[in-house]
Amino acid sequence: MGAPTKFRAMSPTQRWQAVLARDRRFDGAFVYAVRSTGIYCRPSCASRRPRRTQVTFFPIPEAAEREGYRACRRCHPADVIGGDPAIALVREAARAIAAGARPRGDARRLTRAFKRVLGITPRAYAEARRLDRFKQELKRRKQVSPALYEAGYGSSSRVYERTDAQLGMTPARYARGGNGVGIAYVTVATVLGRLLVAATERGVCRVALADNAGILEQDLRAEFPNARVVEDKSGKLHGWVTAILAYLEGREPDLDLPLDIRATAFQRRVWQELQQIPFGQTRTYAEVARRLGQPTAARAVAQACANNPAALVIPCHRVVRAGGDQGGYRWGVERKQRLLEMEVTSPSRQEPQTPGRVRTVK
Ligand SMILES: [Zn+2]
Repeated sequence: MGAPTKFRAMSPTQRWQAVLARDRRFDGAFVYAVRSTGIYCRPSCASRRPRRTQVTFFPIPEAAEREGYRACRRCHPADVIGGDPAIALVREAARAIAAGARPRGDARRLTRAFKRVLGITPRAYAEARRLDRFKQELKRRKQVSPALYEAGYGSSSRVYERTDAQLGMTPARYARGGNGVGIAYVTVATVLGRLLVAATERGVCRVALADNAGILEQDLRAEFPNARVVEDKSGKLHGWVTAILAYLEGREPDLDLPLDIRATAFQRRVWQELQQIPFGQTRTYAEVARRLGQPTAARAVAQACANNPAALVIPCHRVVRAGGDQGGYRWGVERKQRLLEMEVTSPSRQEPQTPGRVRTVK
């Protein structure tokens, strides 16, 4: 027997060694995808080896394509015909599912092959495909509802069930069997206009700024059409609101509140990266992209900032354009300007540790 053909029997280290060795025996056993280029290859591809941290392995080409990777034009990884009939069966079925069709053939045999090659059932695979389409659609649009329908979900309550564990940063049950999740909110006056803080029982789901409470409430209800949205009269949001107000006065540099928000995988990475930027400092969109290991993704970073649901808590105002331009802000560029000024002049400001690389405004 030659090399093992079972992807799942190999450790990531074994796969990586096969890639480093350009070992042809593993062609057909798996493909590797490179995040920085968006391309996937067979193990023996003659192209330059990527950094290990950039690499993700997939058992079949269709699974890499599912994640948005394109086949390498040099090694044509999708054309490899492996010796394992289960892999061929799974690949054919995966292509049918991707095309929106039902896979043909004996259902039990197909299920066995799927479990062996991909570790999941054909049904779970089809569900995951739909979730991918939904996430892609979400990236393109801000509004949730049209994305749900374009991804083939019948009702919005169902998608939240399905995606609950898979989309959120700390996932919310935005709907449970048709019952809306409870969202409490308050609005208070601040130096930057009206501030809204909204939360589920798990954490803050929205922090927003606007000129008046009416706009904030309207936007909140539009964002969560199936939720029970009520103004909080009990004072349970008081602690979080107090922390945010203290931050706005420059007295609370580390705004660390529990979040309950939806995010695509990329948004989550961007937002987590933003939370690493110290109070009083800024980064450019390109710097954030580089830190994520995706140097060409500056525009996608800007897009993720524009979709930030939690102003201030996720400090997207600390991301600016290169060359000193402060860039856009979901809640108004004037507010961004004032926030940056407040942080820079606050006694809570932390001095940049590497002054050459870190930009501060003014
Ligand atoms: Zn290649």
